[in-house]
Amino acid sequence: MFGQITKEASLHKAIEVFNVARKNSPFYAEKYQALNSISSYEDWLQVPILSKDELFNNSYPKSTRMLTLELPLKEAIITSTGGSAGLARYTMLTYGEWGKFLERQADALRLIGINEEDVVANLFVAGSLWPSFVALHDNIRLIGATHLPISANIEFDKMLHYIMEFKPTVLLSLPTVFVILADMILQQNLKVDFVKLIGYAGEHMSEMIRNHLKKAFPGVRIESLAYTSADCGLIGYQCDECASSEYHLPTDFQFVEIYNFEEDRVCKPGETGEVLITNLERISQPIIRYRIGDVAQWTDKTCSCGDHNPVFIIEGRAGDDFKIGGAYISMDVVEKSFSEFVSTHGISANYQFELEDISDAKLNIVLKIESSDIEKSRQVTEKIKKNIETNINDIKVGEEMGLVILNVEFEKLGALPRSPITGKVKRLNDKRVKGDK
Ligand SMILES: [Zn+2]
Repeated sequence: MFGQITKEASLHKAIEVFNVARKNSPFYAEKYQALNSISSYEDWLQVPILSKDELFNNSYPKSTRMLTLELPLKEAIITSTGGSAGLARYTMLTYGEWGKFLERQADALRLIGINEEDVVANLFVAGSLWPSFVALHDNIRLIGATHLPISANIEFDKMLHYIMEFKPTVLLSLPTVFVILADMILQQNLKVDFVKLIGYAGEHMSEMIRNHLKKAFPGVRIESLAYTSADCGLIGYQCDECASSEYHLPTDFQFVEIYNFEEDRVCKPGETGEVLITNLERISQPIIRYRIGDVAQWTDKTCSCGDHNPVFIIEGRAGDDFKIGGAYISMDVVEKSFSEFVSTHGISANYQFELEDISDAKLNIVLKIESSDIEKSRQVTEKIKKNIETNINDIKVGEEMGLVILNVEFEKLGALPRSPITGKVKRLNDKRVKGDK
């Protein structure tokens, strides 16, 4: 299972990566030119932070300055982060590094209960350099389970057909994909009692979605597929004792610091700060003290599962917020307005909440929900509208003042726009001009 090494041993490996980077990568040689040699954690604290922009601007193929190896590339794989949050970024790993990334991910899958007797349906989108589908292919093979490489690139009818034909015990995909499968299973009244585990990644899984899935897949366990990034691989994994936002750190794979940038110091257990990652296996293009953008805190608990790798809590990975009037509103409030009708009246848990400025300083708000029976769903349109007005007072007041138009619309299953790269539905679509919010 996961290796466990001391913080000192982990730092020692991080320093080795640092030394290779400084010696062989022009980018790091320049970045670290003012530093003396590093041998203790006090020295390490002098190592400058790597920002997202630096990584973007100096990564292959845009630049070769971060590389420690000689060109042309050999035995390498290039993947993309998809670009759902702006521009796509690419990650180059040698096959050796890719293999080490995958071994950790396979260990995390074993921990959530996947074993060689399982039949695993891989329902991620393939192509566009998106790594999930191909990475899972290798992960499932490492576990020794049976792989159904169905993908999410095909018609949902066909996806369901393969599932009914092969009866997989495990389904792996995005929440968006599971929602539409659940919609179709409920619509067709199918009995799907063979799926024991749904593993998800890539999107927030709300209570509403979770409940919807449990109706279509009775008795199913729903688990997150660990905390990972394309650049660093697996950063946190969950044992049975971990709460939903708690993760064990793989100490022989990442050296992680949690840092308070305002006070320029390392956080103590229980204090919230930003995650800094140094990957201990990626040498071809090292990642050192990378400010990944996630907020976390260490717990100082000894986990009762017996694994001594430290446990941290990731914060702020939930759904989006939007601003209306003066207040920030969580998307949970929008979901609460129609969650009681999901799985009834043909109503799906896949939706999009759209905000758009129209003429005369008016704000047009549309809640679009997918449905397997639009006529029937329309019976509750007014109730949902009323719930939104009750839950979000600024919308109600805006309507009364003639400044807000609110509509609830239903669309056919699969009709909401999906990212061609990742397959995600954008739940919040705020088309208002930035700064206007
Ligand atoms: Zn544990």
